[in-house]
Amino acid sequence: MSELNLEGSCLCGRVAYKINADTTAQTPHFFHCHCQRCRKASGTGHTSLIIIEQCSLTWKQGEAGIACYKVPEAERFATCFCTECGSPLPRYDAASGRAVIPAGSLDHEPGLEPEARIFQNSRARWSCQDDVLPAFAEYPE
Ligand SMILES: [Zn+2]
Ligand SMILES: [Zn+2]
Repeated sequence: MSELNLEGSCLCGRVAYKINADTTAQTPHFFHCHCQRCRKASGTGHTSLIIIEQCSLTWKQGEAGIACYKVPEAERFATCFCTECGSPLPRYDAASGRAVIPAGSLDHEPGLEPEARIFQNSRARWSCQDDVLPAFAEYPE
């Protein structure tokens, strides 16, 4: 069995979490997402997200200090953040075990590399770009 362990926290340190995933039968995804929702939610040109379809997430501390906002018309786009400092935090669906983790919230190198830039069709012209990673108009096929 191969395992992935991630630990992260917010800027003020009130909220901290750890994630454990069995990666034997699944590959975590790591994307730079340039969609407009990510831009608005982060205030930057893109978010850097690690997506794990099945994992366990434990809030080490500060769970009561987390708020989430779901875009009403979105299928599942939501952003979770520390109510004290506003830092983005993982969005975790306990029913399915799916986690969307803002890579910048990690306290260490994840040992994963970004694999693609997604939602290039809504990329801001000033946002960073490269010719190294594959780029997709929306989600990868
Ligand atoms: Zn905080
Ligand atoms: Zn996005």
